[in-house]
Amino acid sequence: MPGESSRNSTHQLCVDRVLEENAAIASDKAGLTPGQCERFVRAFQDFSKGEALCTGCRYCDNACPLELPIYQLMGTYQLSQIFGLPAGDEQLERLRERGKLDATKCEACGRCTEKCPRHIPVAKRMKHLAELLASV
Ligand code: SF4
Ligand code: SF4
Repeated sequence: MPGESSRNSTHQLCVDRVLEENAAIASDKAGLTPGQCERFVRAFQDFSKGEALCTGCRYCDNACPLELPIYQLMGTYQLSQIFGLPAGDEQLERLRERGKLDATKCEACGRCTEKCPRHIPVAKRMKHLAELLASV
């Protein structure tokens, strides 16, 4: 859809600009002033919509009785649903095609979140992913 593609590229430009600004501030050898620090944090909170982010640490790896690849699914979720990046939508499409990484299997037992240092609401995101994977 042409409108969708234009919206994605505009969004990508905005994302790129935020990242560039953050990188420029973070690389300042003199360190962050309190004002810069506040701006940096605010920009990143806006960028991540205030949502907890999966770092891919994999502390949750052995927690899932169904052996779901949580870090992969959470990575895809945040790229697509939190950052709104086209790369996330592409990953989601690949998951849908492969039908292997099945978020619908999640039983919402909460064991993974107990192990997660970031307290990622995995079961809630799995449910959302399952809905996305089911919709065409
Ligand atoms: S909540 Fe879902 S993903 Fe997490 S351990 Fe339980 S079944 Fe696995
Ligand atoms: S869900 Fe939590 S424990 Fe698992 S990889 Fe992401 S941040 Fe680490």
